[in-house]
Amino acid sequence: MRVLTLVGNRPQFVKAAAVSTHLRAQHDEVLVHSGQHYDDELSAVFFHELGLPAPDRELGIGSADAATQVAGIMHGLEPVLADSRPDLVLVYGDTNTTLAGALSCARLGLPLAHVESGMRSFDDSMPEERNRVLTDHLSGLLLCSTPTAVENLAREGVEEGVELVGDVMADVTLLTAPVAARESDALDRFAVREGEYLLVTAHRAGNVDDPEALGRLVEVLLALPLPALFPAHPRTRARLETAGLLAQLEQAQGISLLPPLGYLDFLQLLRNSRAVLTDSGGVQKEAYLLGVPCITLRDTTEWVETVELGWNRLTGLDRDGVLAALGDLAAPPSHPELYGGGHAGAGVVDAIGRWAAARQPA
Ligand code: UDP
Repeated sequence: MRVLTLVGNRPQFVKAAAVSTHLRAQHDEVLVHSGQHYDDELSAVFFHELGLPAPDRELGIGSADAATQVAGIMHGLEPVLADSRPDLVLVYGDTNTTLAGALSCARLGLPLAHVESGMRSFDDSMPEERNRVLTDHLSGLLLCSTPTAVENLAREGVEEGVELVGDVMADVTLLTAPVAARESDALDRFAVREGEYLLVTAHRAGNVDDPEALGRLVEVLLALPLPALFPAHPRTRARLETAGLLAQLEQAQGISLLPPLGYLDFLQLLRNSRAVLTDSGGVQKEAYLLGVPCITLRDTTEWVETVELGWNRLTGLDRDGVLAALGDLAAPPSHPELYGGGHAGAGVVDAIGRWAAARQPA
């Protein structure tokens, strides 16, 4: 079978890396990079560190507002779809690239599989939530990370083509954490010691695009009781600069504002941190997998199991809430396997095989 995989940004490179090797063992993969993330820090380093094959086609969409990105990706993708005539198109997660792939498949009548299907924050103001819902409802094969995702789809009346495969990002985290421990010197490089610092990431539109929210994020960062490493997403850095808040953070004692890090360095710093503060979906999951307490700078999460088990606290951008959570970081008693134990990539390819077999004429 020919499967066209569409990726475009940092978490999608991580997720596709978990699937690509398994996929290529049984099928032809055409890898298309939309160019939503295009620089070395957010793109090339992941291909290199995770051994993801070079893209067959690059659409080069670059930074733009959502409408321009979705339309531009569709415009670039449709001739590639017409050219390569895939039997199935595989999209990941909840970005503009994901939605553009889904809309193009619907337009051209091509079968679509969605990895990380069924995730819901139930916060309609998040662009990612709209992308998830729309993509799921255009997919014929819905590959779910968790039983909660399967339930979410059932509640929306989607049951056909739903497969629980586990979480592909977990495969990569579990496989790469020991490699990062051997190969990354990030603790030395950034002069931090195990358990004595915090790691921070923030880039959700709701936290950084609104100057008032951004101001509260800075207030949180300036109040942290331990040294903090903050590899800032380019979007966040740009918003901080526009709001006139960048210099304040750069000069703050105890906060190291860094460029985005490669995956090995980031995992190594995450694993050894006292706790992570983040609004990233992927980082919440990775923190759980590595047994690191997580403070989520949002009011909702799709990864509800981590909150229910006590490993993740939802504080939003409330400074006092963050400080209270940091004052109580004892490890919860239970740490069950939530995300498939590192076998989701193989699970995706098995599910694709079942999907294809079911479509064979009798
Ligand atoms: N990540 C990284 N370097 C960083 C920050 C994050 O390698 O400086 C990785 C992180 O380990 C996770 C992924 O990027 O695998 C998460 O991406 P992001 O937060 O951009 O996306 P989200 O998960 O929120 O969709």
